[in-house]
This record gives sequence, C-alpha cells and structure tokens, in this order.
Amino acid sequence: MLTSMEAYVTHLLSDILEAERPDQPTLNYVYPEFVEDFPEEYDRWPENDPLYTFGYYCGLKQEVFPPAHMLSSLQMERLCYAFSKMMFTWNLDTDIPDDVPLSKKYQLLVSTLDMKTEVNNTILTTFELCSYDPPSCPLGEYCTCKEFIQDDALENIDDYLHGE
Ligand SMILES: [Zn+2]
Repeated sequence: MLTSMEAYVTHLLSDILEAERPDQPTLNYVYPEFVEDFPEEYDRWPENDPLYTFGYYCGLKQEVFPPAHMLSSLQMERLCYAFSKMMFTWNLDTDIPDDVPLSKKYQLLVSTLDMKTEVNNTILTTFELCSYDPPSCPLGEYCTCKEFIQDDALENIDDYLHGE
C-alpha cells in the first residue's frame, strides 16, 4: 500500500527532476590546477555578492520538503540523491562531509535553497555550509573545522614557544 507520505515523496522526486537545469552546459570543464588557470569569469565572481538564491534558479522552495522526522531513511536517501544530482546540473556542490547522518544531510541540502549563489557555466561553485566556528557550525560535530581550529591553536602555541 502506498502511504500518503510515499505518494508525496514520489511527487517531490519528480519536482526535483524538473528543477534540473534545462540548458545544462556540457560538462567539459576540468578543475583548474592553478589559480592562474581560472577563467576570467572567476576574477569578477568574488567581488559581486550573489543576488539570487539557489531556490530562485531551480524553482524549488524549502517549504515543500517534509521535516526529516516524517521521512523514512529510504525516502531521505532518495531525496538526497535526487537533490544532489539536480544541484550538480547547476554546477553547484556542498561541503557536507560524508559521515554526516542522513537526516542532517537532508536538512542541510534543503537549506541551500535559501542561500544566495551564482550559477556559473564554467566552474563548480561550492556552498560553504561550515561557518568555521565550531560552536555555531551547522555541520556540528561532523565538521572538520574542529580540527582546523585545533591545528591553529597548536601552531599558535608553537609560535609562542619558539618565537616568530
Ligand atoms: Zn564547520
């Protein structure tokens, strides 16, 4: 028997598919190895604050996504997979670590809809969800920023002990 949530998720999956970029540029770019190799577009990119949210581009709204606790693991897995795939058609990616629990990953992915971004034809743009501040970082205990901070602290101690 198809539960009503299952029917809703099926509908949502087709909405996510429709949110894929209609005029995808052919993905023939490669990650440049050196900053000098970045296309000219990259030069102007960091200076301008993006005007529109990811949701503006793809047409999806956060509100249509059910809260994680109402979904089964399988439903969340299917939604996360479809969402990430759709996101990639817009040349967008996230910095969500692999070991983040599924429900958190789902929430974080959906939260990108309200984040402002550029849609770039030539390079992959990454949503930086990490705030680089462990107490407030939305990735929480799964985030690698904890380690950066520790490394920094150690380096500072080193500088202190040995002089700069
Ligand atoms: Zn973090």
